[in-house]
Amino acid sequence: MSTLITNIGELVTNTREGDSAASPGFAFMSDAALVIDGTEIAWTGQAGKAPAADERVDAAGRVVLPGFVDSHAHLVFAGERGGEFAARMAGIPYSAGGIRATVMATRAATDAELGRNLRALAAEMLAQGITTFECKSGYGLTVADEARSVALAAEVTAEVTYLGAHVVPPEFESDPAGYVDLACGPMLEACAPRAKWVDVFCERGAFDADQARVILAAGRAAGLQPRVHANQLGHGPGVQVAVEAGAASADHCTYLSDGDIDALAGSGTVATLLPGVEFSTRQPYPDARRLFDAGLTVAIATDCNPGSCFTSSMPFCIALAVRDMRITTQEAVWAATAGGARALRRDDVGHLGVGARADIVMLNAPSHAYLAYRPGVPQVASVWLGGSLGWQA
Ligand SMILES: [Zn+2]
Repeated sequence: MSTLITNIGELVTNTREGDSAASPGFAFMSDAALVIDGTEIAWTGQAGKAPAADERVDAAGRVVLPGFVDSHAHLVFAGERGGEFAARMAGIPYSAGGIRATVMATRAATDAELGRNLRALAAEMLAQGITTFECKSGYGLTVADEARSVALAAEVTAEVTYLGAHVVPPEFESDPAGYVDLACGPMLEACAPRAKWVDVFCERGAFDADQARVILAAGRAAGLQPRVHANQLGHGPGVQVAVEAGAASADHCTYLSDGDIDALAGSGTVATLLPGVEFSTRQPYPDARRLFDAGLTVAIATDCNPGSCFTSSMPFCIALAVRDMRITTQEAVWAATAGGARALRRDDVGHLGVGARADIVMLNAPSHAYLAYRPGVPQVASVWLGGSLGWQA
């Protein structure tokens, strides 16, 4: 089964001609067409030269782009923290401790409740053009609750992250070293078979550099690849720890020193920015302009979670990145697609080169710039997931 999408006003490919993986920069064609064959992109080029296909879709001059790749999300949880958000907007600062409220609610929830919430959020993401998403555990923080969180996440995505080291749970308040032992021992053992990644919240109030190193090393030994929550609430060692560990991504990067930027520049670690968090915690935005100018690989992700940022909307995050982090519309869209793919070490998504997975978004708009130009407006018209229509407005 093949499908020709033609009459595309702007086709964002993120590949140069002849490339089979995403290029370092945004790339697009005007008056374009693409052909899906089965689950993959089989052809892209000028609409007038398109080959025939079994089925034909007329894009009517609209923009078509790769599905968004959300490399950072916490979707397995119960409860909500709208009151905490309202209090924060009234002047109470955000701290890592709020996570514990969600931990209590998550432990008290049934598997069915957690699964329902998770699938509802995954559906929200798809409707907003996210075709690949990462999903972390981290609100269970017991062996059984982390294991079920990872198992539930594995039902909805291949990008499952074990985040037993999210915060030290209350019952280990006086014995954080004992919790690190648990997170590196029986908890990791229970989670590793279904996870791809190990993550740690390396921050004041969560885990320090030495604890983070131990946790990432244990995860690696169990076959998981590292990623790190780094430098969200202040300057600290998170980015350096991530680079040392060969992490795929250092996430947040809100407070970076020159040394942090140098370390990222010489590494295979992506700087993942989560502008929805700064929006929702009323913190200063990271200087994304400086990261792009330094030549770093940058991703934008939602960080969808009930505490610091409860949005599942990549278009919203793109709009924030453009307007408040001073990057271009092209840079933001690249970061939300190809950048996210790099942060997950995937070369089959985030671009529309021949052979890529046919994860495709069509907007009711003539260009990618509309994602930031029309903030808050639902513009996703259709989403193809692995070559099949997965969602339609
Ligand atoms: Zn996070």
